[in-house]
Amino acid sequence: MADAVAAAKAALNGPWGKMTTAERVKLISAVATEIERRADDFLAAEVADTGKPRHVASHIDIPRGAANFRMFADVISTTPTESFATATPDGGQALNYVVRKPKGVIAVICPWNFPLLLMTWKVGPALACGNTVVVKPSEETPRTAALLGEVMNAVGMPEGVYNVVHGFGAGSAGEFLTSNPDIDAITFTGETGTGQAIMQKAAVGVRDISFELGGKNPAVVFADADLDKVVEGLSRSVFLNTGQVCLGTERVYVERPVFDEFVKRMTVAAKAFKPGATGDPAYLGPLISAEHQEKVLGYYARAVAEGATVVTGGGVPALSGDETGGFYVEPTLWTGLAHDSSVMREEIFGPCCGVIPFDSEDEVIGLANDTDYGLCATIWTENLSRAHRVAASMQVGVCWVNCWFLRDLRTAFGGSGHSGIGREGGVHSLEFYTETENICVKL
Ligand code: NDP
Repeated sequence: MADAVAAAKAALNGPWGKMTTAERVKLISAVATEIERRADDFLAAEVADTGKPRHVASHIDIPRGAANFRMFADVISTTPTESFATATPDGGQALNYVVRKPKGVIAVICPWNFPLLLMTWKVGPALACGNTVVVKPSEETPRTAALLGEVMNAVGMPEGVYNVVHGFGAGSAGEFLTSNPDIDAITFTGETGTGQAIMQKAAVGVRDISFELGGKNPAVVFADADLDKVVEGLSRSVFLNTGQVCLGTERVYVERPVFDEFVKRMTVAAKAFKPGATGDPAYLGPLISAEHQEKVLGYYARAVAEGATVVTGGGVPALSGDETGGFYVEPTLWTGLAHDSSVMREEIFGPCCGVIPFDSEDEVIGLANDTDYGLCATIWTENLSRAHRVAASMQVGVCWVNCWFLRDLRTAFGGSGHSGIGREGGVHSLEFYTETENICVKL
């Protein structure tokens, strides 16, 4: 592990550090092309590690892995820096302008739910800005990080620019990186508690951090919404990737006149999923691990103890054939939970949500914002004024109206409260992955 950090540090002063932006961009674009060329290998690796259905990995994980490099190659090529003509005391002028410099060696620590996607979301901009990286993927999902190393070699990336260390987080590879004084900044995606532990380590040496953490994201369904679109959208936001999505919906607030109809239709949608990890979107894959299955089933039991009515699901599906032995849980809907129950407050990271009725806009804004988290929200309404008004009142990093997970990689992405620190995406990533220097020239 020490060798990885040393190699990353040395590479800053080697050929990589001497490259022009245009030369770096060429290499980074080649990485995107090579990921696309080896898409089948990446797909097989991601499916083998996560157990996720092929349609999820082939439509989301792998294309985004390539797009993350292509987009940041573009951003670094096209983003100007600021300059000001400044009046001087003697009646003359000075030119103030900014140069961007790499921060140094960046530790990239990632989770298991979208391994390649989330890792490249950070490696792409870090390299575009001229840094070197040491990546620590989750021990659950190490393969695509290793495969990306093959891609780096294939495109001729200089030695030491991209490094991977394997091992667990706490007390092992992750903590080694966060404690290492040669790591200049840490970008992390994962649980809020882990973020807090990393932040303490980063304090030593006053090192910068960027955190994308957990969520307990609300969906707000107004009575005027198009229920067909709502159910289609929430079937994705609650169940995609078996609910193992930081942006997933776990709290649903529905205006009372359409509450019963919504629950009826959502139940039909939930029951339609079959357990399996094929290329067919009608199938819901397994959870990542036995440990996570135990956690999710623990919440299923707790929901009942907290007074929930289990509308559908609540256990483990009957399995046969290839699925036997997978860590499956049933897609689950609850009603009757109190807004302040632990199941409605804590991130479960499973295919489940509690549905609660509301009577007024003010009430639902209060309910949606009454959380420690602040990652995203979705609003479902056909009323344009209300859509803008309610969206702006959500205390979150991202609010979707009549859609979900519609990402434009140029936009700022991140969370407020316990959901994160900082924003990445487009030019916002440059803020984290570079140090700016202001130069003032008296003319
Ligand atoms: P964890 O926080 O458990 O782990 C994330 C990574 O951190 C893993 O590589 C892990 O290693 C490592 N790690 C764990 N402890 C430490 C430590 N003390 N020091 C350094 N590294 C450490 O998250 P999960 O993997 O369980 O991922 C799920 C979480 O990620 C959810 O909370 C989800 O909301 C969040 N997430 C947030 C996103 C966002 O954009 N906001 C996007 C996707 C997920 P290892 O596990 O190998 O031991």
